[in-house]
Amino acid sequence: MNVESRYLRIGGTDWTLRGCAFVRWKVLLLLKCRKKIVNCRPKQVKQSSPKKPRSRNIFKALFCCLRAQDAPQAPPPSQDTLLTPEDNGTVAKVPGTSLLPEVTPQDAGKICVVIDLDETLVHSSFKPISNADFIVPVEIEGTTHQVYVLKRPHVDEFLQRMGELFECVLFTASLAKYADPVTDLLDKCGVFQTRLFRESCVFHQGCYVKDLSRLGRQLNRTLILDNSPASYIFHPENAVPVVSWFDDLEDTELLSLLPIFEELSEAQDVYDKLQQLRAP
Ligand SMILES: [Mg+2]
Repeated sequence: MNVESRYLRIGGTDWTLRGCAFVRWKVLLLLKCRKKIVNCRPKQVKQSSPKKPRSRNIFKALFCCLRAQDAPQAPPPSQDTLLTPEDNGTVAKVPGTSLLPEVTPQDAGKICVVIDLDETLVHSSFKPISNADFIVPVEIEGTTHQVYVLKRPHVDEFLQRMGELFECVLFTASLAKYADPVTDLLDKCGVFQTRLFRESCVFHQGCYVKDLSRLGRQLNRTLILDNSPASYIFHPENAVPVVSWFDDLEDTELLSLLPIFEELSEAQDVYDKLQQLRAP
């Protein structure tokens, strides 16, 4: 008996999507946490070549989750080199300072959902692709480079519905000079009330962490949707994991998550609701 079929029998039709998504979550949470933590260890950063040109490090540092093979005009770098010491300059803001402004009247009473960008909603690459949804110029060290962006399937429908249900915040560990113009093109309906970039992350043990306690929202009414468990390592109980996406045009992950978020949007306390949803 495989795991998903067990959930299907227990949960019945209405629970199929939830069951599948959360079984995936539990498995991925374990696997990815282990993988990400290993990948982000400073010890492994030191193991990468310290003599690589600075420009390559900047390419790699533009996105938080840039795939090694996507770096332009360079041999495939190690994933371990994404977080180099020179990229570690992010300093946490003063504790107690809220990252978010006051809730707007239109979002009053709504749960806040922090949504990741790369490999959650889009995948970006320096490698030219013929079917890019967006091509975004990004200036790096005085030279303009083209970033090719693929939208995850069903992202438009997903964002539209999420905007109706929640106060949505884009929170990415990528640099604003890349992520901001991408979000301009992606979020045509203005779903994201606020955008937070790498400088709003806390650099912790080699990883950029999204500290939900600094948002200025009630934690029991805050959710995070992110493909990287390392991003929410401070608040795993607030997380709705999502499978990383790169280029699978048949992907339906975002659609499968909508019923879960429909339920979560009605919760008074996200911890209680997530606990119910996680329960076998
Ligand atoms: Mg991501």
